[in-house]
Amino acid sequence: GWLQNEVALITGGGSGLGLALVERFLQEGASVAVLERSAEKCADLEQKFAGKVLAIQGDVCSAADNQKAVAATVARFGKLDCFIGNAAVWDHGARLINTSIEQLDTGFDELFAINVKGYLLGAKAAAAELVKSCGSMIFTLSNSAFYAEGGGPLYTASKHAAVGLIRELAFELAPKVRVNGVGPCGMKTDLRGPQALGQQDTRIMDSRSPDAIKAILPLQFFPEPEEFTGPFVLLASRQNNQTLTGVMINADAGLGIRGIRNVAGGLEL
Ligand code: NAD
Repeated sequence: GWLQNEVALITGGGSGLGLALVERFLQEGASVAVLERSAEKCADLEQKFAGKVLAIQGDVCSAADNQKAVAATVARFGKLDCFIGNAAVWDHGARLINTSIEQLDTGFDELFAINVKGYLLGAKAAAAELVKSCGSMIFTLSNSAFYAEGGGPLYTASKHAAVGLIRELAFELAPKVRVNGVGPCGMKTDLRGPQALGQQDTRIMDSRSPDAIKAILPLQFFPEPEEFTGPFVLLASRQNNQTLTGVMINADAGLGIRGIRNVAGGLEL
């Protein structure tokens, strides 16, 4: 495995992409800890991976919970090599015009607290250990970190903010710690929205369909969460990544090279 003897802490590792990362990092030889809000998902992790995964129940919006997660990871595995900020919520594309000003007000506070403050506090809690290990941070972005209409203004702004965080931290933590991002496109996960928008029980596939996602992607398939894990392994791997920092990998099946008239130029090939 590419991550033999490495220790990773993944936020939101209870389902979706985070869970796929837990499985892939274990396969690659890493020890894995998870900071996850859902107690039920924490129990599932402990059961499914019987002693191999340390699940810490807590909220990424809480400074104390981030510190607790890092301390528990180091207590259990002896060090921390990779922090993956991944827990987030979506906004189901709630648009400016269709959303009340009260919902934008409270929705911003809730969504930004998870998607942006959560990344910042996780980075802060992990930084000293990562400086010690000369490790790395990886943050989950989205096509919404680069383009419109992958969410509404709340989500799109939050993912753009994460790009700024990555650039700033990559600068501040060089030369000791590499800081990078991976921006997936749509996938079927448990991704939900803020309570402030009444979306706490609404999942991404309630408002998007696999066929619609596949249709807009130049590579013309609907990726599974596992299919986004490769770039994370690359960025975390010491052998494979000596030189990437402050880099965002657009793992979005080619959205950036969509044609103006055709989604893909080679459909007849
Ligand atoms: P998911 O809901 O399956 O996974 C996110 C996990 O984070 C959940 O287990 C959830 O319980 C947890 N979580 C939420 N808020 C938390 C908090 N405050 N504290 C601790 N844990 C919390 O969704 P996912 O799609 O796997 O999301 C993972 C990442 O992928 C997110 O950053 C998301 O923005 C990004 N992403 C998802 C898609 C998609 O289509 N699903 C597309 C692009 C990017």
